Amino acid sequence: MRIDVLDKGFVELVDRMGDDYSAVQAARVSYGKGLTSKDRDDRLIRYLMEHGHHSPFEHIVFKFHLKLPIFVMRQLVRHRIASINERSGRYTEFSDEWYLPDSIRTPDGENKQGSVECADKAITQKAIAIIEEAYKNAFVAYSRLIEMGVAKEMARIVLPTSMYTEAFWTINGRSIMNFLNQRADSHAQPEIQLYASAIAEIFEAKCPVVYDAFIRYNYTGDLLNKEVRG
Ligand SMILES: Cc1cc2nc3c(=O)[nH]c(=O)nc-3n(C[C@H](O)[C@H](O)[C@H](O)COP(=O)(O)OP(=O)(O)OC[C@H]3O[C@@H](n4cnc5c(N)ncnc54)[C@H](O)[C@@H]3O)c2cc1C
Repeated sequence: MRIDVLDKGFVELVDRMGDDYSAVQAARVSYGKGLTSKDRDDRLIRYLMEHGHHSPFEHIVFKFHLKLPIFVMRQLVRHRIASINERSGRYTEFSDEWYLPDSIRTPDGENKQGSVECADKAITQKAIAIIEEAYKNAFVAYSRLIEMGVAKEMARIVLPTSMYTEAFWTINGRSIMNFLNQRADSHAQPEIQLYASAIAEIFEAKCPVVYDAFIRYNYTGDLLNKEVRG
């Protein structure tokens, strides 16, 4: 399952351990029991979520392949309860793949952390042109340094944080919920919101009962509720 994000990025599920009922199995081990009927198992999932017994959800594990701009990656790595391996800019050469926005945001007057889309077409076009010009200049400098024989680990210092990188990201169900609470939320930067929405879509497709219980009892963000509850 792969979902395209931004102009060149994606979220791809490459592997998964467990499903909705991994949490039930883990919780029932306390009583030396396992799965019973779907109805009772589903009720237990909701009970665990509602009462904050979240450790059983750690037994569901997702491995994602992500392609994302470096500035989004910087926000992602703050989520420490996950395993990450990232493509190396020391061993591989960057290609001219950068995130070029198709709209521009200006500061939100009401929400200090937030931004709002600029309605002025002239400013938008001008800002995007400035951004693209800066990228191109930086990439020309990078290419010239590489051609001169400068090591990739040094040449890359001229590149912007909009360059795309790739990573494998393995994260358990409990930590995904924490991630979605923070990043599938209007206070997060819109670019990482899009990655969070894609991750939520995969989480819902693979663990629908856990996802539904999460949205009902544990989700503190403000983006996913509407989609799920209508
Ligand atoms: C809107 C927004 C704005 C932000 N702005 C900034 C900013 O300006 N500057 C900045 O530096 N960061 C910022 N962050 C990052 C934020 O502070 C967190 O580092 C990040 O969101 C990861 O959250 P987390 O620690 O809950 O996740 P994880 O690191 O995945 O941790 C999950 C949970 O494990 C527990 N845990 C993990 N490590 C420890 C530990 N060492 N000690 C105790 N408990 C631990 C905590 O319960 C934690 O909630 C921002 C995040 C958001 C969503």
